[in-house]
Amino acid sequence: MKDVLRDIAKERMVILYDMALKAVRSGDKDLARRYVELLVDIAGKSRTRPPKSIRRGYCRRCYIPLIPGLTARYRIVSEGKGSRLVVTCLECGWRRRFMIKSRRRSGRDSRAR
Ligand SMILES: [Zn+2]
Repeated sequence: MKDVLRDIAKERMVILYDMALKAVRSGDKDLARRYVELLVDIAGKSRTRPPKSIRRGYCRRCYIPLIPGLTARYRIVSEGKGSRLVVTCLECGWRRRFMIKSRRRSGRDSRAR
């Protein structure tokens, strides 16, 4: 039965996130933040982790949904083995790095450039 509740929670999170994105696009950032806060609240109460796309899609500090070019800057920084995605929140300057798993091509290091 818990699974059903989690499904509902997830569904709501997706809907809220979608609404948050729309709110940002229409310029209402406060409203967008409220949706994200609600979403986080649902996640906490239902003890359900939001889908990955959502977890990475908002600022943990100011709760703004991160939209490339609008509220966030996405940069890919390559570092030896793999590369990192650096996300900067344009609202509060918060930064987050994500490792991008480099797909194993050939074991050899093909350093183009
Ligand atoms: Zn922020």
